[in-house]
Amino acid sequence: MSHGSLQRTLASPAVVAGRGYWSGRKVTVTLRPAPANHGIIFVRTDLPGQPTVALDVHARADIPRRTCLHAGGVRVDMVEHLVAALSGLGIDQCSVELDSQEMPGCDGSSQWFVEAILDVGIVSLDAPRSVGRVDKVIRVGDDHAWLEARPVANDRLCLRYELSFDEAGPIGDQYLEYQHSYDAFRRELAPARTFLLESEAKLLRSQGLGKDVSTSELLVFSAAGPIDNPLRFVDECVRHKMLDLLGDLALAGCDWIGEIVSFRSGHRLNAQLVKALLASDQHRNQQHNACA
Ligand SMILES: [Zn+2]
Repeated sequence: MSHGSLQRTLASPAVVAGRGYWSGRKVTVTLRPAPANHGIIFVRTDLPGQPTVALDVHARADIPRRTCLHAGGVRVDMVEHLVAALSGLGIDQCSVELDSQEMPGCDGSSQWFVEAILDVGIVSLDAPRSVGRVDKVIRVGDDHAWLEARPVANDRLCLRYELSFDEAGPIGDQYLEYQHSYDAFRRELAPARTFLLESEAKLLRSQGLGKDVSTSELLVFSAAGPIDNPLRFVDECVRHKMLDLLGDLALAGCDWIGEIVSFRSGHRLNAQLVKALLASDQHRNQQHNACA
């Protein structure tokens, strides 16, 4: 990724169908090619007038455990794994049509989206990508969970994530350092699945959420390890947290050059960092906003 790279979209439409984790509703998502400077726009084809919601950190709804967007009373839920797939593969222009409120949970990772996109192919558009460069240290969070953006000397995005989940439990502490490239994303992050503890799964289920989701559709950890499901990576959990972080960074609407260091951050804190980065970017460069 560099200042010279071009905007990218799909070569032709790609379709992914499944069910929402939270709602249990069936949904079909059609990723359509978009022209330069279109952005990533969600289109609710099931609603009258087909209203749209743009991918934008200021459209984020404050809902725990996932990334949902809302605009003008219209919502699109759990966009993070699709957005990670688009961002991870460098697709910054796309029209995302869906016929329900919630994106499909798929296998809990970005893999289904990545395969559907790579099946149809990716094309470059004749316009430069928007790129934001971290030019000073920006930190959000507290001692319990924090995120820090730091400048780098090269033109890369580097992520570091420290997961400290349940010291004595089956997940424990995991640490990963990742240099972003489209290929690295596809191999190292895209297949990493959503995870939760059995106790959390039981609690959510008692609240009526995810009652149709089986232990084969995401990673549910008992004290002995994942239930009914082999791990794809020994450190699959920290890889998934990094996938989530990469997807949330794309809420800025641009690529980032810099190092992002995370200790136990989740969607809400990730979005808080994006807002701080954008505010700093705007302040620094009000004449021509690098991230506009
Ligand atoms: Zn996730």
